[in-house]
Amino acid sequence: MTNLEGKVALITGASSGIGAATARKLAKAGIIVGIAARRLDRLTGLKNEIEADGGTAMVLEMDVADARSVNSGVTSLIEKHRTIDILFNNAGLMPLSDIDAFNTDEWHQMVDVNIKGVLNTTAAVLPHMIGQKSGHVFNTSSIAGRKVFKGLTVYCATKHAITAFSDGLRMEMGKKHNIRVTCIQPGAVATELYEHISDPAVRQQMEDLRKEMTFLEGDDIAGTVLYALQAPGHVDLAEMFIMPTRQDW
Ligand code: NDP
Repeated sequence: MTNLEGKVALITGASSGIGAATARKLAKAGIIVGIAARRLDRLTGLKNEIEADGGTAMVLEMDVADARSVNSGVTSLIEKHRTIDILFNNAGLMPLSDIDAFNTDEWHQMVDVNIKGVLNTTAAVLPHMIGQKSGHVFNTSSIAGRKVFKGLTVYCATKHAITAFSDGLRMEMGKKHNIRVTCIQPGAVATELYEHISDPAVRQQMEDLRKEMTFLEGDDIAGTVLYALQAPGHVDLAEMFIMPTRQDW
């Protein structure tokens, strides 16, 4: 099993949901966690919680859609903790609506955060991983990065981009630079993701899914991240498709 004690991780979207749960889990495994998002109050609360439990966390105010903000967060994490061994590209938004509602601001927001955000953090962190000839990049795609659903068209497009980017990155980084890449593809997870849906009818449809099945928890996804990290160095868990048992689509 790979020894994780003292490794340094950057986790984006760490102020809630999957990112916060993963920060807790990795910190418990002895990993120093750089926790990045825009909501500083949430990040500070998480840092206090992690440190009360014996872990180490550094708060990074970061808007992943803004390359300058990303570069400044990455630089401060490296200055304080020397390196970044693990990058979890997890920040994302899902303000769903039908195409003919033409909520174009929301389309662009999804592209900026779900795609460009991943590119910004990857561009900022990879040179360090390449320099040290090791690293592990996780990208949060989705079941929506494997299949297309009506009403989720733009979100699916952004997550398909992440699935494609992850596989290409894996092929370019593994042999040449000894960097592993894992694409995380969850089904329904109980987080704050649906709270950004502006159309009340679509939001209600998504909330109704909770009656059909027991959703995954953020901690379930965190467990798969830890599992992939603990695999021996020659093993790259390239894709992890994690579903609620009762999700039948
Ligand atoms: P949450 O809404 O709980 O978390 C989203 C996180 O992204 C928050 O921490 C938020 O922080 C952060 N974020 C949003 N915009 C930005 C930005 N511009 N810059 C930095 N951080 C940002 O949802 P989840 O935990 O569910 O989402 C995490 C990932 O999982 C997303 O990529 C989502 O698409 C994906 N996913 C979720 C599924 C689910 O069913 N929940 C299923 C499959 C995939 P802040 O607002 O403080 O900046």
